[in-house]
Amino acid sequence: MIKVSKFGGSSVADATQFKKVADIIKSDPDRRFVVVSAAGKRFSKDNKITDLLLLVNAHIQYGVDCTSLLASIEERFVEIARDLNLKFPVSEEFARFVDNLPNATPEFVVSRGEWFTGQLMAEYLGYPFVDAADVIVFHHDGTVDMERTQTRLREATVHTGGRFLLPGFYGSTVDGQLKLFKRGGGDISGAILARCIDAGLYENWTDVSGFLAADPRIVDNPRGIHRITFEEMRELSYMGASVLQEEAIFPVREVNIPIQIKNTNAPDDFGTIIRETANEHAREHLITGIAGKKDFVGIYVQKAHMSNEVGFVRRALSILESYGVSVEHIPTGVDSFSIVVNGADVKESIYSIVADIQRDIKPDSINVLPGLALISVVGRNMSRRAGTSGQIFGVLGEAGINIRMITQSSQEISIIVGVQNEDFEKAIHVIYDRFGDAVVVREQ
Ligand code: ASP
Repeated sequence: MIKVSKFGGSSVADATQFKKVADIIKSDPDRRFVVVSAAGKRFSKDNKITDLLLLVNAHIQYGVDCTSLLASIEERFVEIARDLNLKFPVSEEFARFVDNLPNATPEFVVSRGEWFTGQLMAEYLGYPFVDAADVIVFHHDGTVDMERTQTRLREATVHTGGRFLLPGFYGSTVDGQLKLFKRGGGDISGAILARCIDAGLYENWTDVSGFLAADPRIVDNPRGIHRITFEEMRELSYMGASVLQEEAIFPVREVNIPIQIKNTNAPDDFGTIIRETANEHAREHLITGIAGKKDFVGIYVQKAHMSNEVGFVRRALSILESYGVSVEHIPTGVDSFSIVVNGADVKESIYSIVADIQRDIKPDSINVLPGLALISVVGRNMSRRAGTSGQIFGVLGEAGINIRMITQSSQEISIIVGVQNEDFEKAIHVIYDRFGDAVVVREQ
């Protein structure tokens, strides 16, 4: 099986981390294609190389001297090369980079984090270095030209004898203009490589052992999620449990390549496997995970005989659309409905939105209820199983938590409850305590 192994910034932050990466790669001959981010933080107050390079751009833009900033970036790479006895001429290459700065584009500057880190890692692993500028092809609008990229990546596998290192995060247009993915986009590079060379597994190495069934800041020691579907992961990530760049999912999902999240600092931990379906085990957890976010706002609109009026809800929604506000949920009653939106999205505009709704649809009343927290209980095994939602509402009731909103996704893989911000942590606690370890036995 071909595995693409992508290592994030903290996994390549210094020589100690480089050694862990080499051990991981050497322990499995299938790990023939490696993608790296730029060296990240070595400790919590440290800086990521990418952030420092963005700062270099800002200095250049405002004509401010950045000699010492550049020296601190160079030092990070010099240190890695020195600690690992690498031959790559960091100082010469860095001097060349600095000489070119007056003519460099911002993309070129920022992508050097991955380029230098990749050069060092390639030498350390003994893998050929393939420059992403030569193989990841962008259209001018910033999207990836998958066809050209696939041809070039496949050629690269042949030229390199079937193993190479690719720096993540950047690529270039056919006429050689460098382009970047969005922040954290090394994950996307890895996914594209996995797809283009038909990998059997896309490994994403980071500093956590995959997804957890609940936020460890709220629940002590939540269990890890070993298997999750893409759909469940989208639900959890949307509610804040994010481990992976979301856009990295699509290239591999479309061709059914599983992603495994692994921890560089604890490589024996299983991590999380994300795939299209995940029902091969007889005993599985009822709930895959719980995630949630605070500070939603409900706009509650009431009008007698509204149900007889066509287009009422649509008109309210189009007002929100005109403010560029996306709508999370629309619980409806016969003569009323609420629109739930993200509080941050309407911070400036809520009064004008309410005024527009008043004017355009003349409701009998309209109330804004802030401080709503949404909790999503996600699990493919909840689907078509009677009683789960009843039990969730039951434990919340027993804990004295008032439920302000309820929705269930159409596939029945998530149940979303809205509670007061103040009840958020307690609600997650009681749901996790009751269901965190609950298992179901699947009929095979
Ligand atoms: N180095 C880039 C960033 O910090 C991309 C990545 O790490 O994936 O955003």
